[in-house]
Amino acid sequence: MLYEGRMAPVVRFAPSPTGFLHIGNARPALFNALFARRAGGRFWLRLDDTDTARSTAEFAAAIEEDLGWLGIVPDGMFRQSERLAIYDAAAERLKAVGRLYPAYETAQELDRRRKRQLGRGLPPVYDRAALKLSPEERAAFEAEGRRPHWRFRLDPGTVTWDDLVRGPCHVEADSLSDPVLIREDGSYLYTLPSVVDDAETGVTHVIRGEDHVTNTAVQIQIFSALGAPVPVFAHHNLLTTASGEGLSKRLGHLSLRGLRAAGYEPMAVAALAVLTGSAEAVRPVSDLDELASLVDLAHVSRAPAKFDEHELDGLNARVVHGLGYAAVAERLAALGVASERAEAFWEVVKANLTRVSDAADWWRVVEGPVTPVIGETPDLFAVAREALPAEPWDATTWKRVTEAVRNATGLKGKALFLPLRLALTGLDHGPDLAGLLPLIGRARALARLKGETA
Ligand code: GLU
Repeated sequence: MLYEGRMAPVVRFAPSPTGFLHIGNARPALFNALFARRAGGRFWLRLDDTDTARSTAEFAAAIEEDLGWLGIVPDGMFRQSERLAIYDAAAERLKAVGRLYPAYETAQELDRRRKRQLGRGLPPVYDRAALKLSPEERAAFEAEGRRPHWRFRLDPGTVTWDDLVRGPCHVEADSLSDPVLIREDGSYLYTLPSVVDDAETGVTHVIRGEDHVTNTAVQIQIFSALGAPVPVFAHHNLLTTASGEGLSKRLGHLSLRGLRAAGYEPMAVAALAVLTGSAEAVRPVSDLDELASLVDLAHVSRAPAKFDEHELDGLNARVVHGLGYAAVAERLAALGVASERAEAFWEVVKANLTRVSDAADWWRVVEGPVTPVIGETPDLFAVAREALPAEPWDATTWKRVTEAVRNATGLKGKALFLPLRLALTGLDHGPDLAGLLPLIGRARALARLKGETA
């Protein structure tokens, strides 16, 4: 049975809470969330936390928080560790129909066997010796203290699926070893719980990294063995660094919280995470809806998605330039930019920022103290001081002052503007002074034009 296009899609993102999410994990998270958003479907967050030794509550909470920062709010969340009884029931069903069988080989025995097969030029596929064990042989292993691991008996033949990214795919089941689903200690590998959860939660589309392609043939057979509909699969390419290395959880500065702490905007990170390696150029977006409109799984490239983290600054700047005051008011207040001038200030400085937090530098220029840089043209400043009109000031004030200075001194262009900027701001670059000057105000401007720190 296949997913039918009429149903609203259900997708999931299934990280293991064994580390912080990084920009590479943001890719499947976003592909899923955007797919659901576009199709009016549902998006589950599933925590694959059956590895109790490495999974922590701290990482689980961080995953939710980091997804929230990207603007992803799941329709529901669940943990595999709370569902073991459900996996046990599924395992029993597979055992009852002879699809799950006990095997007693140790890792060393399996290794020796593999080497022998390779030595003879045979593919290193598990030989199913365990299927041929008599009840007595099994009892003898148990008496030795061996505990079985459990393998899924694959059906022979070709497994096919139509991958939304990779197109028609096929895998010869005979070329695969019967996969181990349950370890000797009774714990589950990822393969079975994932299928059981996808079946139980009505997942219609499994969108995940191409590192899972080899699991798919096996999982399709498990869906069928459990009598569950087989979802549609989409395996996207993985994000790699510019030099082609995979991202690991150790790359702290590329963790979502590291990027957030470094002052990057979620939409810059999200755009880089999903538009890299797609048909669309990496570009700033204002929200997830806009990003959703640009993402099409059918146009995701099959080559590695190499991303350049240095692109992030330029991308971030362009996102910041498009942010309205309401989007940043809280963060500006936290930076100390809190006054009735804050909104006007934001509109004046934002085009000069790479990060929102850089606004603090310009707020210091406005509020002072600024040590003016006075060049070798003091006459210029005397004229400028004289030209300062009474307040209130507005966007035309700067023009009035510079025109007065030009008329009196004959200076123009850079020779006129740069000394004034250096005196008024202490810097040789920055936002348009027409906007900045009214924020600096008459008292501070007058003092700075006298060479005083103000
Ligand atoms: N926990 C698995 C992973 O993070 C989930 C894979 C899947 O989406 O099926 O790789």
